[in-house]
Amino acid sequence: MSIVGFVGLGNMGRPMAANLAKAGYEVRGFDVVPEARERAAGDGITIVASAEAAAEGADVLITVLPKGAHVRQALLAEGGPLTRLAPGAVVIDTSSIDVATSRDVHEACKALGIEVLDAPVSGGVAGATNGTLTFMIGGAESALALARPTLEVMGSKLFTVGGAGAGQAAKACNQMVFGASLVALAEAFVMADRLGLSARNLFDVLSTSSGNCWALHNFCPRPGLVEGSASDNGYIAKFAAALLAKDLGLAATAAESVNVELAVGRSAKQRVDELAATDGALDASAVIKTVEAINADS
Ligand code: NAD
Repeated sequence: MSIVGFVGLGNMGRPMAANLAKAGYEVRGFDVVPEARERAAGDGITIVASAEAAAEGADVLITVLPKGAHVRQALLAEGGPLTRLAPGAVVIDTSSIDVATSRDVHEACKALGIEVLDAPVSGGVAGATNGTLTFMIGGAESALALARPTLEVMGSKLFTVGGAGAGQAAKACNQMVFGASLVALAEAFVMADRLGLSARNLFDVLSTSSGNCWALHNFCPRPGLVEGSASDNGYIAKFAAALLAKDLGLAATAAESVNVELAVGRSAKQRVDELAATDGALDASAVIKTVEAINADS
């Protein structure tokens, strides 16, 4: 069975790596944070001391990192992990990052004769845990052929959307829609309170009406409505507000680069940026606190 190097063992990376270990892969994992390494050690992952050690002799190298800067730091250093892989290896960057960094990763791999995909994900921690993620994939068919067995362990839907960086472009569009629906939900719950509706009644109505959406069931901003939601757990992050703010910034930059005006996306970004400025480590669903604060005096 192939060796998988895995870099980034946070909310998403840890369950993704754990599923690969469960499926019989030898998984060598690294994270810069000691607690993340310790948590992952119990999941059948062999913890190693650096990204280079994770990549040493690996057939597949997977990164699940917060931002483009982290991906550059982890992958693009001179003599870094890309130079340690087994012949015929494939690199899969599943982080949500900017298209420019993603294309640089493709170029660096190409220069070394390594196959590569950008393959950001959707599905949240639940999707990562259940192995049901959606992958949005940019890169060559030959890279996908090498990556497919591991991707199919971690996810249930693989969408090839184009060449280098195309997966990131698709992810930016997706996150814009997700961010807008999350902020709209937060506003709807605050508005419902003022109109005398209970949160439970609004949840039940939305769930079976045209306002139903993925964010309602996976990032419900009000507690007591969805078992296991971050709002039920003091908004401890499953997906940090800082990461959604980053994604909405990536969407804004991508839209600007092709002269598209995002009226709804811009409003959602403003609200999420306000939350991230003070409480970026909280779950993104805590954006309801920002909506409440803005409306406190009205
Ligand atoms: P996270 O912050 O929980 O985990 C990221 C991990 O990367 C952290 O443990 C951090 O210590 C580690 N890290 C940072 N720099 C590193 C480096 N140079 N070398 C090794 N490790 C490093 O973030 P997450 O929620 O797991 O998200 C990871 C990526 O997936 C982000 O790009 C995010 O936008 C995306 N994403 C997250 C979700 C979600 O629901 N959490 C869903 C879809 C996509």
